[in-house]
Amino acid sequence: MMLKVNDIYKSYNGSGVVTPVLRGVSLEVGRGEFVCLLGRSGSGKSTLLNIMSSLLDADKGDIVYMEKPFRGMKRCETDRFRREEAAMIFQFHHLMPYMTAFENVMLPFLSGIRPAGKEQKASAYEALAKVGLEGKEKRLPSQLSGGEQQRVAIARAIVGKPAILFADEPTGSLDKANGDAVMRILSGLNKEGLTVVMVTHQRDYAEYAHKVVELSDGNVDKITVKSA
Ligand code: ADP
Ligand code: MG
Repeated sequence: MMLKVNDIYKSYNGSGVVTPVLRGVSLEVGRGEFVCLLGRSGSGKSTLLNIMSSLLDADKGDIVYMEKPFRGMKRCETDRFRREEAAMIFQFHHLMPYMTAFENVMLPFLSGIRPAGKEQKASAYEALAKVGLEGKEKRLPSQLSGGEQQRVAIARAIVGKPAILFADEPTGSLDKANGDAVMRILSGLNKEGLTVVMVTHQRDYAEYAHKVVELSDGNVDKITVKSA
């Protein structure tokens, strides 16, 4: 199993009040799967996704990635996981407003020690073409539609060829046409081998997944696996 979620508990502590959010959540993500975490607003989806991507620590339970528990990993190892294995997209695209689409997609390479070369530039063009933005590489985010901006964010997420993509409500700020386009892109990337874990409250979009994990009150309510 690529990613295992083993009996995760998480509470938030605020001014003396403890709010339990996850109460013993378990699920599995196989390599190449498209898994959807479905639940109402406030059901703990983002919290769970952040724990699954090592951004947040659980109170109890563990995440095991390729047989290695996050708990046993050093900080630099979880950092490496997020940098090299995983990628994330969110409801809002978080693009740099003063950088072109191409420059935004090049961003993940700019933290490297060596300057980005021809190969990285080719990867950026390829990633933008994959999300249907060929010819729009030089546009600033303000010169792109909301749907196109989200597609730039997807290109930026996949440019480093991650093994697993975590998507938190990637269609949340888009209208139906643009939301559908984003879903088709995610589905296409999944068919090419990318493992996808997507959070949504929109049941329609769960249709794209192989496995739908329904959350409510901090528990897994139901897991539906689509037969191939
Ligand atoms: P979802 O993504 O399903 O809407 P979240 O995981 O964002 O749910 O939130 C679940 C619950 O935890 C909500 O009640 C939310 O208010 C609370 N919560 C989320 N993040 C924090 C935080 N950093 N501090 C305190 N409470 C939080
Ligand atoms: Mg959320």
